Amino acid sequence: MAGGDHLDFEIRPASQPVPAVERAALMANPGFGRVFTDHMVTIRYADTKGWYDARVEPRAPIPLDPAAAVLHYAQEIFEGLKAYRTADGGVTTFRADANARRFRDSATRLAMPHLPDELFLGSISELVTVDRDWVPTDPEGSLYLRPFMFASEVFLGVRPANEYLYCLVASPVGAYFTGGVKPATMWISAEYTRAAPGGTGAAKCGGNYAASLVAQAEAIEQGCDQVVFLDTVEQRYIDELGGMNIFFVLDDGTLVTPPLTGTILPGITRDSVLTLARAGGRPVEERPVSVDEWREGAASGRVVETFACGTAAVITPVGAVRSRGYAFTIGGGQPGPVTMGLRERLVAIQRGSAEDPYGWVKRIL
Ligand SMILES: *Cc1c(COP(=O)(O)O)cnc(C)c1O
Repeated sequence: MAGGDHLDFEIRPASQPVPAVERAALMANPGFGRVFTDHMVTIRYADTKGWYDARVEPRAPIPLDPAAAVLHYAQEIFEGLKAYRTADGGVTTFRADANARRFRDSATRLAMPHLPDELFLGSISELVTVDRDWVPTDPEGSLYLRPFMFASEVFLGVRPANEYLYCLVASPVGAYFTGGVKPATMWISAEYTRAAPGGTGAAKCGGNYAASLVAQAEAIEQGCDQVVFLDTVEQRYIDELGGMNIFFVLDDGTLVTPPLTGTILPGITRDSVLTLARAGGRPVEERPVSVDEWREGAASGRVVETFACGTAAVITPVGAVRSRGYAFTIGGGQPGPVTMGLRERLVAIQRGSAEDPYGWVKRIL
């Protein structure tokens, strides 16, 4: 059936999958986003046909016409989520339905067609089933899933394309922090911004990342790990990092995070942290936080912890902050108890070692 929400996936197994011994060697120390499984999913879209040709096929380069619209006007969106190995050898995902929904929201902003949730979630279970041996058994490892979609139409006119390719690849990843959680140092960019009101800040699109790379490079040059972007209007309020949301813990235990006003990516980790904090009886505020409040609060002891969060690192404590002309530390540069408590609670649910009262974890194998 073409064009509907349901498509059967055609399975084309790789004729030369990576041999088990080689796979084990690759998975012993995979790092992030360097090692890939044997297969990928592709689904095509044309205005005239809807979604069609859903396939699990050997992972391979994608032939692309030099006039494919994505190469010129960057009509591209993506997602990032993880599949986890359970203690009994099964495989689960965490809030994949939320990624499916956000993928549709990103598509709306980039004038792209909606991939039905059934196909988004179906692509994940099909790929993980075929490539199940690539899901790490290491208790800190996971299989990172990268769904993405781009304009494949061969046309140089400026308008939303009529043809798209959806693709899913998977990459085994190891522990984000090797040798314990280390606080990160942030660079507040005074030159570059990430997202303006009315722009694409709330969409997960490659273009946002393209625009953030020079600022991230500046952060690294300044000896920092990550860049923090400020609002574009007043250059005063903290938005987020290049690919992570940010939280502050006050001395009375209140958890504060910038509100979703359209310039911040609505992180699923962010939402999970808010849910867990509220459930634990912690006061939570979604409101603007200025650089001055952060800086003065760190000095006065009002801001006792800061952390960043996202799927890749889950929760990363922030120990120090720098910008042009000033620098400060938070909580003596050590990971704080609220940060680490929320991290443990979230990881335990994701990994299945704690009960999941929210229905976030879904078994796929
Ligand atoms: C993906 C992303 C995040 C984190 O979202 P999660 O759903 O928690 O992984 C935060 N900020 C940006 C800009 C992102 O692209």
